[in-house]
Amino acid sequence: MFDPHEIEAVGRLFATPRKIVLVSHKNPDGDTIGAALAMMHYLRKKGHEAVPVVPNDFPAYYNWLPGAGEFVVFDRDARKIREILAKADIMACLDFNSMDRTGNLAPDLERFSGKKVMVDHHLEPSDEFDHCFSVTRVSSTGELVYELIEALGDRALLGLNEALALYTCIMTDTGSFSYNCNFSRTYHIVAELIGCGVDAAKVHKLVYDTFTENRLRLLGYALSNRLLVWNDLHTAVIYLTREDLKKYNYRVGDTEGLVNYGLSMESINLAVLLTEKDNQIRISFRSKGDFSVNRLARDFFSGGGHKNASGGTSRIGMENTIAKLKEVLQHFKEELNYRLSL
Ligand code: 5GP
Ligand code: MN
Repeated sequence: MFDPHEIEAVGRLFATPRKIVLVSHKNPDGDTIGAALAMMHYLRKKGHEAVPVVPNDFPAYYNWLPGAGEFVVFDRDARKIREILAKADIMACLDFNSMDRTGNLAPDLERFSGKKVMVDHHLEPSDEFDHCFSVTRVSSTGELVYELIEALGDRALLGLNEALALYTCIMTDTGSFSYNCNFSRTYHIVAELIGCGVDAAKVHKLVYDTFTENRLRLLGYALSNRLLVWNDLHTAVIYLTREDLKKYNYRVGDTEGLVNYGLSMESINLAVLLTEKDNQIRISFRSKGDFSVNRLARDFFSGGGHKNASGGTSRIGMENTIAKLKEVLQHFKEELNYRLSL
């Protein structure tokens, strides 16, 4: 799984007490938050000082994770993060493979003079790191954190706090075991995590059954009023304007999972969610089958991700973005024309 030289090198790095910063990516999801928290608990047990930092706020439905309150958020406390970085020996980046995934925090991370470690499962890692644990054929970064702890000979240190965090990574990055979940190793690891005391049904409820009334009504509104179905392109698009989000008192995380509804239609192979946030359009892409949304996001919308899940941004307004998307997809008309079968 990992290069033994890299394991040895990181083993040496962690051999004496260190000050370690754990970094999650912008617009954080369960995988990046869980991976950082699992590392935090593990590294503290090893005698290190470990602090998790994140560019902007994560959804409130991750607050129950043990240690979630320890995250320092760059948007709210840049000075504190700069102080932490100035004193740290090591930075570990979790669930991203290029510094630009950390938004406003990126310049400070690029200036960091200590060792940079990366643990991630996305395609095409950049070369900004001293030690890379980059494997794409896994469910999540959380799965890789488990593998890393085991490879370092520390499986016995895994307790309930680490296990809850790692289970959350795997559950959220596989959409509750509905995609990215065809690796038998994932299930061995899940079995180990449950053995550590994780209540899988409870974790599911704590993450997913947390809607406010506004969030549920926003979902209904999006499906009734903001859904475009381009049958000839096998594509469904949901778009939400700034006014829509304001009307339903949008909170971070309220549009999470919304993009997947498009894919639930049988003939749809590509689903897109456009949301107007800050002065740009955030784009989420999902596909089923062979169509690569990583390429679509990377080549046309300044983003990237995985084959079946990616994201990007656009700065030309909602109407123009929808028009551009439709135009770009004309080139993929043939590629999008397939029907899943066994
Ligand atoms: P989401 O649609 O949930 O925000 O992101 C889906 C996937 O695409 C995630 O794996 C995420 O890491 C990746 N992704 C989202 N936005 C971006 C982006 O702006 N740049 C890159 N490189 N990847 C992104
Ligand atoms: Mn991930």
